[in-house]
Amino acid sequence: MIDENIKLEAGWRLESSYGKLPSLFYSKLGPSPVSEPELVILNDKLASAMGLNPDALRGQEAVDVFAGNRVPGGAEPLAQAYAGHQFGHFTMLGDGRALLLGEQLTPDGGRLDVQLKGSGRTPYSRGGDGRAALGPMLREYIISEAMHGLGIPTTRSLAVASTGEPVYREDMLQGAVLTRVAASHLRVGTFQYAAGAGTAEELRLLAEYAIERHYGGPGPGPEENRYVYLLREVLKRQAALIARWQLVGFIHGVMNTDNMTISGETIDYGPCAFMDTYDPATVFSSIDANGRYAYRNQPRIGVWNLARLAESLLPLLHEDDEQAVKLAEAVLSEFNGHFQSHYLSGMRAKLGLFGEEPEDEALIQELLKLMEEHCADYTNTFRALTLGQPAATGMGEVPAFGQWLEKWQGRLSRQKETEAASRELMRRSNPAVIPRNHRVEEALAAAAERSDYAVMERLLSVLADPYAYSPEQEAYAEPPAASDSPYQTYCGT
Ligand code: AMP
Ligand code: MG
Repeated sequence: MIDENIKLEAGWRLESSYGKLPSLFYSKLGPSPVSEPELVILNDKLASAMGLNPDALRGQEAVDVFAGNRVPGGAEPLAQAYAGHQFGHFTMLGDGRALLLGEQLTPDGGRLDVQLKGSGRTPYSRGGDGRAALGPMLREYIISEAMHGLGIPTTRSLAVASTGEPVYREDMLQGAVLTRVAASHLRVGTFQYAAGAGTAEELRLLAEYAIERHYGGPGPGPEENRYVYLLREVLKRQAALIARWQLVGFIHGVMNTDNMTISGETIDYGPCAFMDTYDPATVFSSIDANGRYAYRNQPRIGVWNLARLAESLLPLLHEDDEQAVKLAEAVLSEFNGHFQSHYLSGMRAKLGLFGEEPEDEALIQELLKLMEEHCADYTNTFRALTLGQPAATGMGEVPAFGQWLEKWQGRLSRQKETEAASRELMRRSNPAVIPRNHRVEEALAAAAERSDYAVMERLLSVLADPYAYSPEQEAYAEPPAASDSPYQTYCGT
């Protein structure tokens, strides 16, 4: 099954540094072949950036790699072991339907995980079939690429191959495999697993691996404990990431600790969605009845998850338990400051504000309150302000909004930067389009039900640069018709 020719033609340069960790952390096995592999979408730009040859990747033998029927030379497929808190309950998990092929060494000196998702059963599959359905894999492709377009750290989607085999969920669906690319697939749950199932030395090796892979940079100072440093750096990246989600109205939907990366990338696009109407209580996932992962709870859940990481790292933070807890608490207490500073500076940019005034926070809160009261569309409110069309917010007749506009204008006129500079800042900070649920559903229906990929290609092209404000994007900025909402996402992916 291992094929050296494909490796050379397609440009695969795979290594497996993860596979050199103690065997506790994975099970080595190959993907389960499928009957009729067919490439349905390939990310040419990403392929090229990874040093892969998009033309060669379209050849059937190369496509076989994306479906799990062949493995390119250098790959050492393995399922990663991890644990996680799912909706607050601790469980042993692991890649139940995914395999890490290896890490691609990229032309710019990077190292990126290449993972097949939907590639068959593994020792961690529990009752699952190890497979994935075409619709949800295309959904992950669209939303992850949209997040990348928005400039938000995320795993990427290299390709989707259909398998020619059915998968059984509530309905019978077409099977597919997504090739996912990530800085790494290390999760908070990987550390929870190490802390629970490994020795102190195995936990330390994992922490060293994470530092080397993601936090090499200047690294910890000579006097600094390396693992306090690791915890703090992960916390900083997650605070920045979640602030970015809040700023674009993204709701992850399933912020379990196994779905939170150590790298600070967004991962696992299951029941996620962008909100249309601004409502902080928005939750899309059909299984999140209590709204644990609602929009407004995301920062709080972020720090809750980081506390699970801190707990897992305790034996490395200090030899004395009490001291270790103190160190962990001190780091965790920094989350809100980091989050607030990213969120506030992001909001200032969305409103074209340079510098800082003490009243900025109140100005932002007042706008959000008005948006909530008047059921304004989150993205389009900022888009309307960017375009200088406040009436297009739908709040043109609201006196309190008129007063808010005056206050905002006052704030803008007190800064030395020009109006043009403000507008430019707003354009760079407020997307003209987001992957609206009705548009995503429309693209998925065309692809999965009619094998028509043109709708999805058009959607991907307008989402590639959401800050372009191009004429083609206008139709995609429309919120859904009233009958299309409220939207629900389902977990049966
Ligand atoms: P997720 O909700 O995608 O984060 O997955 C949670 C856990 O369930 C992970 O361990 C997955 O590998 C596993 N899982 C999800 N779907 C399947 C499936 N169809 N077969 C086996 N394992 C699965
Ligand atoms: Mg997951």
